[in-house]
Amino acid sequence: MKNKRYDAVVCGAGIAGVSSAYYLIQAGLKHILLIDEGAPLSLTSDKSTECYRNWWAGPDSTMVCFMNRSIDLMEQHARESQNRFLLNPHGYLFATSSRDMIDVFEKQGKEAEEFGAGKFRNNPSNSGYIRNPNTGYISELDGSDLITGQSNIQEIFPYLNEKTVAVLHARRCGSMSAQQLGMYLFEEAKRNGCEFKTAYMKGVDTKAGAVNSVIIENNGVEEQIESDAVVLCGGPHINATLKSMKIELPILVEKHVKISLPDTFSVVPRSAPLMIWADAIKLNWSTEESEELEQFSETKWLLQEFPAGVHGRPVGEGNQVLMYWTYDCESSERPSFPLEWNEYLPEITLRGMAHMIPGLKQYLDPMPKPYVDGGYYTKTPENRPLIGPLDIKGAFICGAFSGFGIMSACASGELISKHVTNGILPSYSKAFDPSRFSDSNYLAAIETWDMDGQL
Ligand SMILES: Cc1cc2nc3c(=O)[nH]c(=O)nc-3n(C[C@H](O)[C@H](O)[C@H](O)COP(=O)(O)OP(=O)(O)OC[C@H]3O[C@@H](n4cnc5c(N)ncnc54)[C@H](O)[C@@H]3O)c2cc1C
Repeated sequence: MKNKRYDAVVCGAGIAGVSSAYYLIQAGLKHILLIDEGAPLSLTSDKSTECYRNWWAGPDSTMVCFMNRSIDLMEQHARESQNRFLLNPHGYLFATSSRDMIDVFEKQGKEAEEFGAGKFRNNPSNSGYIRNPNTGYISELDGSDLITGQSNIQEIFPYLNEKTVAVLHARRCGSMSAQQLGMYLFEEAKRNGCEFKTAYMKGVDTKAGAVNSVIIENNGVEEQIESDAVVLCGGPHINATLKSMKIELPILVEKHVKISLPDTFSVVPRSAPLMIWADAIKLNWSTEESEELEQFSETKWLLQEFPAGVHGRPVGEGNQVLMYWTYDCESSERPSFPLEWNEYLPEITLRGMAHMIPGLKQYLDPMPKPYVDGGYYTKTPENRPLIGPLDIKGAFICGAFSGFGIMSACASGELISKHVTNGILPSYSKAFDPSRFSDSNYLAAIETWDMDGQL
């Protein structure tokens, strides 16, 4: 019997892979095989903080255009599925206790407006500020609102540190259930003919320099899957697959760990946005604690200043609050599982959050057992994804999604499907093409960029 020939094989059923499979079918391909060595959506894609934003620094409008497209598509799926994946446009709220930051917030708001994130609104009194609606899953607002003045801020966000002198509320941002978005795309892809197989992709077999079949293995049994096209969506393992094809791209993985705790005293309202503290902070230890930490080299660092960016939000239907702080990121070429983290990480994260939301101090002594998990950001040097053709004809990559793979999944899947089917490419496609790393001018240019969009 002749082996079945697939129009494309997608390797990896994380959010990038299920979205690629979904959009390849939408683009007209009939026979798609999606493979994964593990359960779909279980490696990185169910470990995220499940947030989305069209709020991106430059140096140009690329990331804002890309995310606006992805949010448009997510909103479309939310409508089609009666919001099965709980899209919630509550916004991102950047807060500061430093007056110097007010100008920075204003500059960021205006720059984001230029890039297409929506209008910047300066609200010196609260009058022009529109609060988040209690219902609805489509962003009614975009752009950002700057609010200054401690009492103005306390009136709207009474749970924030009372020294907060300015907040910048970015509006076309929010959260969702990443697992449910992934399952929706996966189920829709399967309903329209995508097959799923548990298997490990070992490499490709080529004919005249082009993909001819994909070599997979399951329970020690090797199989050749006939197809002219393969899309690599291997998340943090993508380097290993590229190596098997003798392709080199500058990709590193970075460990990220988050915690969540039950908010039994209802400190954080369930309608609160994602809150991000924009100032560096020193953790608040008692005199006795400081003296003790000072004594040992293993704990002395806890007295140092920690970087800006601790963030958190209410999550789920119950009373959990999610907290996350990228104060210390280790990079490596390949990931190592199971993930390990420093024993102080949960307490450091809670102390950082309690600086922004002082009511959380109630959970410091004794600290309830947190739920801790995380995964790897898979990153290129300038923190932009790799979506496009590889040097072997018929081989494509849809990876390196860093800390934005959930929010960008729909636009990424759509973009890779256009590459595979020779569709019309959008303006941002060139910025994500893997060939950019063979361009010495580009490599020199990114050396001068002073932002990477990571929170
Ligand atoms: C702590 C944390 C917080 C985050 N927060 C956010 C957020 O708020 N918003 C956001 O948008 N993003 C966020 N992210 C990023 C987001 O989770 C990732 O970018 C995204 O999940 C990557 O998806 P992926 O499909 O590329 O990779 P993965 O989900 O890792 O999927 C890759 C799949 O490929 C399979 N695979 C690999 N190699 C092979 C092979 N050779 N054969 C067979 N199968 C293979 C793996 O088994 C895996 O299932 C966060 C990430 C972390 C770690």
